[in-house]
Amino acid sequence: MLVSSKELFKIALQKQFAIPATNFVDQNTLRAYLAVAEKRQLPLIVSFAQAHEEEMKLEEAALFGKYYAEKAEVPIVLHLDHGTDVDYVKRAVDLGFTSVMIDASQDSLDDNIRKTQEIIDYARPSGVAVEAEIGHVGSGENYENLEQSESLFTTVEDAKIFYEKTLVDSLAISIGTAHGNYAGTPHINFERLREISQAVPVPLVLHGGSSSGDENLCQCALGNIVKINIFTDLMNSAVKDVTLESSNYLDVRNSLHSGIEKCLNHYFTVFNTKSVRLY
Ligand SMILES: [Zn+2]
Repeated sequence: MLVSSKELFKIALQKQFAIPATNFVDQNTLRAYLAVAEKRQLPLIVSFAQAHEEEMKLEEAALFGKYYAEKAEVPIVLHLDHGTDVDYVKRAVDLGFTSVMIDASQDSLDDNIRKTQEIIDYARPSGVAVEAEIGHVGSGENYENLEQSESLFTTVEDAKIFYEKTLVDSLAISIGTAHGNYAGTPHINFERLREISQAVPVPLVLHGGSSSGDENLCQCALGNIVKINIFTDLMNSAVKDVTLESSNYLDVRNSLHSGIEKCLNHYFTVFNTKSVRLY
């Protein structure tokens, strides 16, 4: 069932769990994710990132995403991840994504607010949920420089101003995770997470979930984070069991699929994801 994230996030907040948001880059990754969600009877967010436009066009992602999500027996959100330009995000709304992220986190707070407002005005009449990001979740490769990373953490003040001006549906915050593989061990600022969630009544979202530590992620899920993005770990797990001897295309594909299943199964458990009925 293709759904918006709004109702799911309310339930996730009440029941203290997070929903994995898994990036698909082709039809096979999408099918592998949905197979796990259906087996476990759990809700899932399947995301397509603007950065993967070379792997798959937005139109293809919308067609495949809607087709498989509608067929699924469990609630599935079709989400645009890191939409960095306003027109691209609007196209995703037109194509039937049920949730979109406008990422203007590299802009000034004022510009970020303005772009987010523009997307909200465009998306809300169609019931499409909007995610924005403040602070900046950088790349894990640069993680050794902890001081520099901390300067990019979301402040309570910015989160408050941003939410009051936009009334965005969900907010990605920077509290110590990073995208991709880590050069060091992530330190999550749980105090900042608590402060923001007490000050701002908006569902919070965590990017860069891969390899951030199961205990850390579990604690985030119990502490008002409703969506955790996972991509790198899924891709690493997919190729783990592929050997040079797997010379047959279908065998390789099945190996990739089972690697993805293992990883997503693991994270459903870590995130405490619970089954949801939406009618
Ligand atoms: Zn991200």
